[in-house]
Amino acid sequence: MSLKKQQSLNANQTVDVIVVGTGPGGATVAKTLAEAGQSVVMLEWGSAAPLRGELIQMAGIAAVPSKGAFVHGDLSLVLRGITAGGSSAINFATMMAPPLAMFDKYGIDLRSDITALRAQLPINTLPDYLIGPLATRIVAGARSAGLDWQKLEKFIHIDKCRVACHRCTYGCPFDAKWTAREFIDAAVSHGGSMFTGAKVERVLHQDGRAQGVEYKQDGVSHKLYADKVVLAAGGIGSPRILQKSGFDRAGRDYFVDPVITVMGAVDDLKSDSAGKEVPMAAGVHFPEQGITLADLTLPQPMYQAFAAQVGRFDRLLAHQKTLSVMVKIKDDLGGNIGPNWINKSLSSDDRARLDTGTAMARDILEAAGASRIFKSHHFAAHPGGGAKIGDLVDENLQTAVQGLYVCDGSAIPEPWGIAPSFTLMCLGHRLGEHLVE
Ligand SMILES: Cc1cc2nc3c(=O)[nH]c(=O)nc-3n(C[C@H](O)[C@H](O)[C@H](O)COP(=O)(O)OP(=O)(O)OC[C@H]3O[C@@H](n4cnc5c(N)ncnc54)[C@H](O)[C@@H]3O)c2cc1C
Repeated sequence: MSLKKQQSLNANQTVDVIVVGTGPGGATVAKTLAEAGQSVVMLEWGSAAPLRGELIQMAGIAAVPSKGAFVHGDLSLVLRGITAGGSSAINFATMMAPPLAMFDKYGIDLRSDITALRAQLPINTLPDYLIGPLATRIVAGARSAGLDWQKLEKFIHIDKCRVACHRCTYGCPFDAKWTAREFIDAAVSHGGSMFTGAKVERVLHQDGRAQGVEYKQDGVSHKLYADKVVLAAGGIGSPRILQKSGFDRAGRDYFVDPVITVMGAVDDLKSDSAGKEVPMAAGVHFPEQGITLADLTLPQPMYQAFAAQVGRFDRLLAHQKTLSVMVKIKDDLGGNIGPNWINKSLSSDDRARLDTGTAMARDILEAAGASRIFKSHHFAAHPGGGAKIGDLVDENLQTAVQGLYVCDGSAIPEPWGIAPSFTLMCLGHRLGEHLVE
C-alpha cells in the first residue's frame, strides 16, 4: 500500500469527518468521502506494514489474545484483524451479496451501492486452474452427494493470483487478494489522512452532538475534533468504544457466525500442489437453514492446529490428502462484549444447525471417497450486531448522538450467517454518500 507519509496532527485540529478503523466498512466510507472532497482522517489501531504472506505476521494481526483473538466458554475462538484494512487483510476473500430483503425491512435500499461497488472491485469466480486439487475433489463429492455446489465469487485480481499458493490466508503479498487497503489508498490519494497505531478510546460528545474522539498513540492521549465521527472499529471494537462513550447497551446480544471444519483423508490423491489452495473456492448456501458449506483448505500449520486441538495427532502429517469442508451457521443472538473480554454460548438451535451441517459435510466427504473423518472445534470470525440498526442506530447508521455513526459489522440488525464484507462496503458507500449530501 502506498500510504502518504504520516504527518502529525495538530493539537485541537478539526476535520470534516473522523473514521475510526479501516476495515471494509471504514475504508469505504473514507474513500467515498475523500473522493467527494471532504477532509477525512482515518484513525487505525493497527499497522500498515506491507503484508508478507507469513504465518508470523498473520499471528500478530489476528492471534494476540484479547487483541485479535478471544476465547470464551464453548465458543473456542473468535478472531479479528487489527491492521490497516482490518480483517480483510487476512480473510478468505469470499464475496456474498447483501440480503436485500432484510435491509428493505429497515428502510435501507442497497441496490445502487451494489452496482457502484461491483464496478470498483475485482469480483470474480476462480478459473479452474486456480482451484486446488483438494477443492476440486470436494466439488466432485458435493455434486455426487446431490448438492448444487458452485464456484463462489471472490475478491481476487485473477491476473495476480498464483497457482499452488496458500499465502492469501496469511495476507497476500502479491496484491492479488483485494483488501480494504486498496480503498484506504484511494482515500489518501484524494486527500484523506491515515494515522496508524492510533487506538480510539472514546467519542467526545456534548448536548447530544458529536465533537470528536480521544485516542492513544505511542501511549500518549490525544483529541481530534470533528462534528461527524464514524465508528468502523469492527463488531467487537465499535461496541467497546460506544460503551466507554456512554452507550451502556452496546455489545449486548450479538452474533459471530460459528464455523467448524469437517475433515477426511483421500489416499489416492497425489499432487504437490494439494493443500496450497485459495480457500472457499466453491460451496453452497442454504439461507432458510442458516448453513453455508464450502471447501476450506488452510495452510499446513493451521490444519495441524485444528487436528491437534481435537486430539487427532494421528492426522498431523496428512495435510496434503485431507479434504476440509467448512460448515458455517447463522447463530442466535446472545452474549456480551465487555471492555477486554467477550462471552457467547451456542444455543441448542445453534448446535442443531452445526450438527445438520456436519452431517451434510460427512456425506460430501464420503461421496468424495474420504475416510478417517473428524471435525474441528468451532471458531468464529464474523462478530456483529452489537449496535444494531433499529436499536442503537437508525436507518442512516446514526446513533442517538447527532453526528455519531456506526458502520461495521456491529450495525447488522439480525443474525445472517453470510460473508459480511461486501454488505459492509455497501453500507459504507451509502453512508459516505449520505454524509456528502
Ligand atoms: C479468518 C477470517 C476469514 C474471513 N473470511 C471472510 C470472507 O471470505 N468473506 C467475507 O466477506 N468476510 C470474511 N471475514 C470477515 C470479514 O473480514 C469481516 O467481517 C470484515 O472485515 C469486517 O469489517 P469491519 O469493517 O466491520 O471491521 P474490521 O475488518 O474488523 O475492521 C475494523 C478495523 O478497526 C480497527 N480498530 C479496532 N479497534 C480500534 C480502535 N479502538 N481504534 C482504532 N481502530 C480500531 C481494526 O484494526 C480494523 O482495522 C473473515 C474474517 C476472518 C478473521
